[in-house]
Amino acid sequence: MHFSEIPPRGLTVETDECPVMAAETGVTVQACTASVRLDRQGERVLCQGRLAARVELVCDRCLAVFAHRLETSFRLLLEVADPAAIEREHVCSRSEMDVVLLAEPEVDVPDLVRQQLLLALPLKRLCRSRCRGLCPGCGTDLNRGDCQCRPESDSPFAVLAALKKE
Ligand SMILES: [Zn+2]
Ligand SMILES: [Zn+2]
Repeated sequence: MHFSEIPPRGLTVETDECPVMAAETGVTVQACTASVRLDRQGERVLCQGRLAARVELVCDRCLAVFAHRLETSFRLLLEVADPAAIEREHVCSRSEMDVVLLAEPEVDVPDLVRQQLLLALPLKRLCRSRCRGLCPGCGTDLNRGDCQCRPESDSPFAVLAALKKE
């Protein structure tokens, strides 16, 4: 949407479209509702919104897929800048608001929602707080039970003992 399409009294965009995430993000969006308020402020656009989503993530430790719910709100100032400035500072913080520099005076609401959803994801993605992960030796999911690997086989002493036997 071009900045000029935003009426002087502002505009609220509601969407329940699921953003499609790139495969490398490891995120599948199952449901997403967002409400984004756009207000023109001179040459800039103030963008305030909130979103709630249900996603599937891959556990960092055991690689199991698990469901995660998230809610977030955001407040951004969209500003048109020349491409060189955008490369220097894609998103910068001025006061307590994030300023997003754009090459064109266009608001891409679905893309905005997608980016805010990514920002709201937990840094550590764990299926449960005490996930035991996979055994580095045999790959067994240790949440389902212990494997046959003996923990001492990882220690340098075990390697020395094995050498002495030879
Ligand atoms: Zn896990
Ligand atoms: Zn093992």
